[in-house]
Amino acid sequence: MNLASNVVRNASAHPDRAALRLGDDILSYHTLDQVSARMAGLLRDRGVKPGDQVAIMLPNSPDFAIAYFGVLRVGGIVVPMNPLLKAREVAYYLGDSGARLLFARPAFPDEVRTGAQQAEADAVVVDPGGFDALLASAPLAEDMIERREDDTAVILYTSGTTGEPKGAELTHANLTRNCDVVAAELLHLTSDDVIFGGLPLFHAFGQSCTLNAAVAAGACLTLLPRFDADQALQMLAEHGVTVFAGVPTIFSRLLQPADRDTYDVSALRLAVSGGAAIPVQVLRAFEAAFGCVVLEGYGLSETSPVASFSRLDAPRKPGSIGTPIHGVQMQVVDNSGNEVPQGETGEILIRGHNVMKGYWRRPQATAAAIRNGWFHTGDLGRVDQDGDIWIVGRETDLIIRGGYNVYPREVEDVLYEHPAVAEAAVIGLPNPDLGEEVGAAVVLRPGAAATAQELRDYVKRQVAAYKYPRKVWIVDALPKGSTGKILKREIVPPAEPGNR
Ligand code: AMP
Repeated sequence: MNLASNVVRNASAHPDRAALRLGDDILSYHTLDQVSARMAGLLRDRGVKPGDQVAIMLPNSPDFAIAYFGVLRVGGIVVPMNPLLKAREVAYYLGDSGARLLFARPAFPDEVRTGAQQAEADAVVVDPGGFDALLASAPLAEDMIERREDDTAVILYTSGTTGEPKGAELTHANLTRNCDVVAAELLHLTSDDVIFGGLPLFHAFGQSCTLNAAVAAGACLTLLPRFDADQALQMLAEHGVTVFAGVPTIFSRLLQPADRDTYDVSALRLAVSGGAAIPVQVLRAFEAAFGCVVLEGYGLSETSPVASFSRLDAPRKPGSIGTPIHGVQMQVVDNSGNEVPQGETGEILIRGHNVMKGYWRRPQATAAAIRNGWFHTGDLGRVDQDGDIWIVGRETDLIIRGGYNVYPREVEDVLYEHPAVAEAAVIGLPNPDLGEEVGAAVVLRPGAAATAQELRDYVKRQVAAYKYPRKVWIVDALPKGSTGKILKREIVPPAEPGNR
């Protein structure tokens, strides 16, 4: 087994069909097969062996797919990273994953070089188009390395339920089965479909539901490196997009342009929302404006990611995340781990072929998350009389800002490094556009002075732009529990917490 065998299969079934599109450039399945085999050859020449971790930090582009499948073809493990990361983050991900080699087309090349140096890894930083030059002279590695079902294919970083980002180890079987179910049973994809590729491919949702699902079905993925509503609408019309996938923020942004009606989106047959709860009004408005059904999927990086989905052939229930997908079971339990009666709220547990092997090199965290075969999501939900699941909130503190995950601990760690900061708590603030905005309540050290603006800028310099707290406010004390743990849920942001 190898997740990359979908590329080879489609290259032989329909070599000339489009696999990837970026603007007017189209890469056929034949070409994707050839260049990913060259990438594999290049990696082999650089000493990459089966089971080695290779990091990729690439925007949505054919290069992402070439590097991704190239690493898989040599039996390597892909460690996808957000191209916006700064030096300290790059060093963390490389150090934690153990990747010695990084292919990057980052937003901040110097940050990547510094981070890689700190982690003693080798960074290959390429310019747009630089991949062509890199691969032109690379040897072709024609044979694909066979992997076992439970061999790790990808390490996806996520905060899990608590703490610093951890790598979810997803196997070839996890990812192959998940994208097969998504492609065949949920989205009914065929090689005639054109899928919107605006979700970041370094994240679980974009990777499985757009890239891997498209390649499983021999369909075309049309890539958008940076989301922009006007560009997305133009793509829907000009590229004849049939399946749209996005996080809720993208759905509401697509509804905004005043000239929306001038685009012919009649090819669109289906849209999928996931990653966070989509407001029912947004779902309905999208269906009305774009004339297609919106399905909602639910899952986590740890579950490859899809666990449940609403269905094309089931009664519509906007707001529900549907039922478990084929081969997956879900349960709602109370604090003692007992299943709650129907209609009552509890923690959602997941079991099935989609559950990760574990957290990379973190046996304790793995044992805490997967108990008796059930993965504990930290999400709260309930099941209705038809077996449909409804998410009601999440236990975890993960902030999802416009579809991007912000792990409070990471931002807090930076704040804590500021000499004037005694305590910091980073929380999500409701935001009508992004779903959540990042906010930070800070207690200063006695006698120390710093303004909220200073603290905000301090963090801004050190982390990717989507993570720094737009709102910082200084407080005398933070609410605490009996063990001294900060009770984030009791933090009340000021009505207009500007940057004082
Ligand atoms: P990630 O690991 O980045 O995929 O984030 C997983 C988290 O996203 C889950 O634990 C949920 O809290 C949230 N999530 C994903 N899909 C949905 C959905 N359809 N509705 C509500 N929350 C969701």
